[in-house]
Amino acid sequence: MNALPLPRGACPALSAPMQTGDGLLVRLSPANGYFTPTALAGLAEAAFRHGNSILEVTGRGSLQIRGLEAATVAPLAVDIDALGIVVREGVPVEMGPLAGLDPHEVADPRALVDAVSRAITATDLPQRLGPKVSVIVDGGGRLNMAGVQADVRLAAVRSGQNVDWQLSVGGNAATAAPIALLDEKHACDAVMTTLLAIAEMGFKARGRNIAPAILRRQLTWAGSEPPPAGPPEAPENDAGSNIVVLRPQGSLQSALPIGVFELRDGRAALGVGLPFGQIEASRLAGFCREAEAAGVSEFRLAPGRALLAIASDFSVCAGLRDIAPRHGFIGDPGDTRLCIAACPGSPACASGNMAARVVAEQFAALGTGLFDNSLSFHASGCGKGCAHPTTADLTFVGYPDGIGLVVGGTASDVADVRLPNAEIRHGFQRLAGLYRDMRRPGEDARTCFSRLGVQRVAAAFQGP
Ligand code: SF4
Repeated sequence: MNALPLPRGACPALSAPMQTGDGLLVRLSPANGYFTPTALAGLAEAAFRHGNSILEVTGRGSLQIRGLEAATVAPLAVDIDALGIVVREGVPVEMGPLAGLDPHEVADPRALVDAVSRAITATDLPQRLGPKVSVIVDGGGRLNMAGVQADVRLAAVRSGQNVDWQLSVGGNAATAAPIALLDEKHACDAVMTTLLAIAEMGFKARGRNIAPAILRRQLTWAGSEPPPAGPPEAPENDAGSNIVVLRPQGSLQSALPIGVFELRDGRAALGVGLPFGQIEASRLAGFCREAEAAGVSEFRLAPGRALLAIASDFSVCAGLRDIAPRHGFIGDPGDTRLCIAACPGSPACASGNMAARVVAEQFAALGTGLFDNSLSFHASGCGKGCAHPTTADLTFVGYPDGIGLVVGGTASDVADVRLPNAEIRHGFQRLAGLYRDMRRPGEDARTCFSRLGVQRVAAAFQGP
């Protein structure tokens, strides 16, 4: 067991924990795609024994255990082995949490995921690629992977009676550069060619560094078609300044992973959210035990900071949904906490300048019209942005002398406006007032703020 902490930005697998402000952090996913209730309850108890009792599900659906020390990582690994949990290692090849079970998916991606995983393992690519390089094979459906970033993406596309796989590189489904349409027979080879091209650019290279035209020339397609059009142009805004948001909405979006979902095999899944992605170990263990007694056979991690309980039928899930809030989970898809990403912040994290989760709770409790599921919010205790490393529409960052608002950027960007701590709540209320006063009929918050532009939004937060 290598207990040396990784530098920030690397991938904190169990074998290489990452140093954070509240101790070491490990991030893991089960190799088989799910936990039994007994195993997940046992894992929560291990997090209590060896960490600070906080577990998280990340935005892309991995489990994090926080507050470990160098001396407690190895005992945690022993406990994980004893629970029979096999942790995924190497280059992640990810699919949607209901892959193969969702009656609405375009194609079952599991065979392709297996083929790509085996092909990668047979090469030296795991040693040559950087730790954050990932592959997504998205079969579509209600809980698809369109919103999750990947270096290499295969997305199922219906083509008459057949299914093709669209290969793209970098970004999410809306922003990735399209490369080719492939039949299943050639899709795995195309992914391997793409990963090799990334590896040849060096250990720090990512999918976004690939020149699409060069990659297309490297690929030899049989049965492929010309790549589809690129992502739509960004909307204009009235102020002529930078736009707030770029990615399109609509059919590319995944449903919120909260609620009951009927499955292809007659079973059902209940999705529950973790407030700001976090749950205390004893609450998770208690929920697992109660779910197991009710008939839940497995738990899956879902992008969007959620947990899916798979049960024999719909009625088990409906009953479980009623008890989930008692264990600290979110069962209501309208809960405003689902709209906000927040790190622990101070005092849990030594680097924090702001109690990010407390601030996020305050915003959520205001329950303004801003939370219409169109805008993404991020409250970050400092500029590192652990809870949401990518762009959010509105990012609130803690500084030693107050709070900053970054519009359409990340926590590490220069804030568009800063306020003293005492003004945080008022600033947020002014943002809500801007939307209330300026929205056009039928316009959601994101479209309204995009139209108004960064300067107008920042000025509203700052106030008179
Ligand atoms: S972003 Fe939050 S969790 Fe990360 S270092 Fe800063 S305060 Fe700590």
